[in-house]
Amino acid sequence: MKRHAFSTAAVSGALLGAAMFASPVMAQEEEQFITIGTGGQTGVYYVVGQSVCRLVNRLEDANIKCNAPSTGGSVANINGLKSGELDMGVVQSDVQYQAYNGTGNFDGEPYDKLRAIFRVHGEPLTILARADSGIETLDDLEGKRVNIGNPGSGQRNTMEVVMNAKGWTEDSFALASQLDAAEMASALADNNIDAMAYVVGHPNGAIQEATTTVDSRLIPLNDDDIKGIVEEYPYYSMSVIPGGLYKGNPDDVETFGVAATFVTDTDTNDEVVYQTVKAIFDNFDRFKQLHPAFANLDPQEMVTQGLSAPLHEGAARYYREQGWIE
Ligand code: GLU
Repeated sequence: MKRHAFSTAAVSGALLGAAMFASPVMAQEEEQFITIGTGGQTGVYYVVGQSVCRLVNRLEDANIKCNAPSTGGSVANINGLKSGELDMGVVQSDVQYQAYNGTGNFDGEPYDKLRAIFRVHGEPLTILARADSGIETLDDLEGKRVNIGNPGSGQRNTMEVVMNAKGWTEDSFALASQLDAAEMASALADNNIDAMAYVVGHPNGAIQEATTTVDSRLIPLNDDDIKGIVEEYPYYSMSVIPGGLYKGNPDDVETFGVAATFVTDTDTNDEVVYQTVKAIFDNFDRFKQLHPAFANLDPQEMVTQGLSAPLHEGAARYYREQGWIE
């Protein structure tokens, strides 16, 4: 975005320094670079970011170059937005709420500049355990080797909420590993961990990889402590991982979760955000086909539900034009 923007005309030779002070007249020709924070490559955020960029990079007149690298996940994306390394990012709805309001892991540091763009797919907290681990319920995780997620990931943030509700600390597990999302499936298959936790849309590559390489089961999360969490916090709700998506897991599994949301902050200019949402919603059938987790998305719901930060003004302009918001 404007932090990385330069005028292609002015970049040649000795004019590079002058380009840093590009005048409004030159802004017309400026190529805008936007970087979208995603998650691990075997998750769904990576596909969200790549899909958005694919549509944005096709725009003929907007002159926006979009890239969407893999990152540590939701909390890392909020931190990247704050530092200016990222212009947009995918974050869990609980992380959006906590960051904007300064609660949870963001206690006392409300991120007033955070802005919502839209909600995407649902993301249940997904615990997958090796069949030979003896884990059948959430309580069975105590004393086992559990991947609670890398710091910076959304699953780590949500697992800490679960651990607090249970009165657990990292010492409650035989091992509380902190592997990145893309490393969990092979750790489970190699018997380095008994269970992995992932807040993620379904179906996804990581759970597919794990269930096809080792006999493993999705664990239901619906006891009283979980129901207490859902009652206490407005951004959690009960949800179901449909049966039959993964090898060895034919039945629906009840758990709780959040939604993935697409966010930015007030430093990102209105026109870039407007062009980005226009690229997606003008080509929405195409967008929906880019991942099975997008199949049931409805534009009006995406822009009115699951968001706690205010809408970015550039997004709101497009949504008003469509009659989706007042
Ligand atoms: N929910 C995860 C996180 O916030 C990422 C899931 C994904 O990559 O699809 O870190």
